[in-house]
Amino acid sequence: MTMLKINDQRLLNDLDSLAQIGATADGGVSRTALSDEDLAGRAWLRERIIAAGLEYQQDGAGNQSAILRSSEADAKTLLAGSHIDTVPNGGRYDGALGTLAALEALRTIKDAGLALPYHLEAIAFTDEEGTHVGGLFGSQAMTGALTQEKLANPRGGRDKLIAGMQRAGLTEESIFSAKRDPTTLAGWLELHIEQGTRLEEAGIDIGVVTSIVGIRSFVLHFIGQAGHAGTTPMDKRKDALWGAAAFVQQARDVIIKQFPPGVVNCGVIEAQPGAFNIIPGVVELALEFRHGDDAQLDAMQKMLLDTAQSVAREHGLRLESEARGGVLPAPMDATVISAIESAAERLGLSHTRLMSFAGHDTQAVSKITPGGMLFVPSVDGISHNPNEFTKPEDCVNGANVVLQALLILAGVEA
Ligand SMILES: [Zn+2]
Repeated sequence: MTMLKINDQRLLNDLDSLAQIGATADGGVSRTALSDEDLAGRAWLRERIIAAGLEYQQDGAGNQSAILRSSEADAKTLLAGSHIDTVPNGGRYDGALGTLAALEALRTIKDAGLALPYHLEAIAFTDEEGTHVGGLFGSQAMTGALTQEKLANPRGGRDKLIAGMQRAGLTEESIFSAKRDPTTLAGWLELHIEQGTRLEEAGIDIGVVTSIVGIRSFVLHFIGQAGHAGTTPMDKRKDALWGAAAFVQQARDVIIKQFPPGVVNCGVIEAQPGAFNIIPGVVELALEFRHGDDAQLDAMQKMLLDTAQSVAREHGLRLESEARGGVLPAPMDATVISAIESAAERLGLSHTRLMSFAGHDTQAVSKITPGGMLFVPSVDGISHNPNEFTKPEDCVNGANVVLQALLILAGVEA
């Protein structure tokens, strides 16, 4: 029996065509959300959807959909997709691959004339990259997670957001109208490039995401005593930087040893008062750590703060710590995970489970419907860069897994 597969060339041609829109001199793409280039990309996507004979829809947040209806009128909707906006001078694959693979899967199912118990919808979410409100704009609007406050104080500035909304014909009212009723949804699937080197190094075709990591951040203050850098004997110093430096080392060691695949970062260290000839009296340190499991995040937090406390004590310092917010981990749904794995197996592709350490629309969508995500290899792990590259065969593999996983979730063998 031959298995239903996507049209390779149609997918690869679409990837090439979309990459021409907003193309930069060094081979990258600039289609920042709601820019003229993004609008041109959207117009192109709309045309491709209509040319495929699929139903086209745009919601109030500018999310664009291709829909293939089930003959059962009250069927739920199975969603797949990603985004087509990019960072400035980004790559051709981030977002575009997942969006066009979902569209290609729908075209393939339509061409095969299959009857499904679900409506299928391929969706491109507005502003995943955070040009305006700090990421996941369209997917959060769809799930109801976008707040008035985020729109009132967008990361990219209010004037820029208003201008973008006007260009795209969006209003605040329309954006909030994009919220969907979760009971109408059957599930969600996103294909994305890995943006890392784990698959490439292991020589594995498909990464099956188990969870998108949560993030927690703290500001730590190591407080000692400023003093004369020459006349204060070494054994009499309360050097705040000695404590902070020891903490950075120990934090690294303990996370590597006890919390794999968790990660920790000390991204800002500021010594005060900050001079050649003054012993650092206070050090402010920005601490961030990530893991896909909330209980592990709790354990990491306790371990890191206890370590900071004991290091401070050893160096005669006082420690103050202040939580600076974070993001909850988004675990993927077991049924969708197993559909992705079964699809990879049907196709003879190797696969492994891993966590996503970057944020994606799946983070928002999986909060309201069973969600799953898969990765294909990124050459050298390069992303958000003109040199971002995923081999054509990996793009095709990923799209075939999307197609087969949708069929498995719909309970159809083809
Ligand atoms: Zn992306």
